[in-house]
Amino acid sequence: LRRNPGETEFHQAVREVLECLGPVLVKHPEFSHHSIIERICEPERQIIFRVPWQDDKNQVQINRGFRVEFNSALGPYKGGLRFHPSVYLGIIKFLGFEQIFKNSLTGLPIGGGKGGSDFDPKGKSDDEIMRFCQSFMTELYRHIGEHTDVPAGDIGVGGREIGYMYGQYKRITNRYELGVLTGKGLDWGGSLVRTEATGYGAVFFVQEMLKARGESFDGKTCVVSGSGNVAIYTTEKIHQFGGKVVACSDSNGYIYHEKGIDLDLVQQLKEIERRRIKDYCNYHKDAKYVENGNIWAIPCDVAMPSATQNEINGKDAEMLVKNGCIAVGEGANMPTTPEGVRVFLDAKIAYGPSKAANAGGVATSALEMQQNACRDSWTFEHTEKRLHEIMRNIHDLCYETAEEYGTPGNYVNGANIAGFVKVAKAMVAMGLV
Ligand code: NDP
Repeated sequence: LRRNPGETEFHQAVREVLECLGPVLVKHPEFSHHSIIERICEPERQIIFRVPWQDDKNQVQINRGFRVEFNSALGPYKGGLRFHPSVYLGIIKFLGFEQIFKNSLTGLPIGGGKGGSDFDPKGKSDDEIMRFCQSFMTELYRHIGEHTDVPAGDIGVGGREIGYMYGQYKRITNRYELGVLTGKGLDWGGSLVRTEATGYGAVFFVQEMLKARGESFDGKTCVVSGSGNVAIYTTEKIHQFGGKVVACSDSNGYIYHEKGIDLDLVQQLKEIERRRIKDYCNYHKDAKYVENGNIWAIPCDVAMPSATQNEINGKDAEMLVKNGCIAVGEGANMPTTPEGVRVFLDAKIAYGPSKAANAGGVATSALEMQQNACRDSWTFEHTEKRLHEIMRNIHDLCYETAEEYGTPGNYVNGANIAGFVKVAKAMVAMGLV
């Protein structure tokens, strides 16, 4: 705490992992001998930089940019860029720390990193977004590369922003180095299924948790918070699996639609027109919009938080359990507070923590890197099959690790321990670096 003052989200993420590791250190004394805990909590490199840009009124604006290269024991740093006004070092470090273990769980050769800016894309013109992205990349380019550090999207960074950043990278470096960014457009090096991957992957993970309890999505009522990339494709896959999503949200409020959310409309409003979710009710008179409402008060069988960190607190978790929720799959990163996690674990519902449940996005980014490296592009079916296999493997690894360590059904322990052990072994093997 003294070493990283004020970084509350980072403290929360570290505490959650360390709380699971006692039995691992007993089983592997070499990890303590090599000071793995102390080393893994310290990023290998942290870059903070000025991002000057000009708005449409020719006024100079200054934002702060970050890239935290946390751990490269398993491969090049890999993790998204977040553009949101709440971004500061503590957020980027929590996300980067989580990313180390998530990437380890995928079984693919990727280290952990994260970056972003306190820039607020909301209400900005397309030209302003482009100028910001170009300025951001004008500093970032010197730190990244297909063998070094490979950023992707996150909150506020989608295909449009990746395009502007890639264009600037190419211009500055004079290299058509596709593997330097993932989440690219399909015509210029992107992978099919990357857009859908985090949402689809989270649903595959929950499907496995349900299967382990003799259940399925069929006929289940679901609540998915957010209405961005992760929420949209989570909803799509749930509907394909026979479940019904009755609510979604943005940071202003939620929509409840008993008949089931009209996903085409949400995509039109959010992905194309970039409007607010409240406008949904202009098209469906039988839907309800609740400004600043609590989406977790809606009774459901399955909850999939897909907006942001700490969106489910202890009381929300109690309400979900009381209303009969049997499974929670985290599409967002760390969306449940420690009190909420305790409630889910005590109630013994199927609870899939983010570093396992939402690993499908980064896994498919790693598949994009594979395709770029061999100048190839795979079909949708093949790529989705790979994603499905990866999510099944992550589920099984977490499930079996939880059993091995005497906490059956506890996917938090399973994910933290399995993710950690692989990285720790690689760090021991590579010596004191
Ligand atoms: P988007 O920017 O596409 O969508 C984010 C959604 O969450 C929007 O509906 C947004 O509403 C809402 N939201 C964001 N911040 C807040 C907030 N502070 N309070 C309430 N609602 C908020 O982002 P993604 O869908 O990509 O990301 C969502 C979550 O999933 C994040 O936690 C991200 O880290 C995680 N994730 C994403 C991956 C990906 O591949 N994209 C991979 C793994 C994890 P509004 O428009 O009002 O801001």
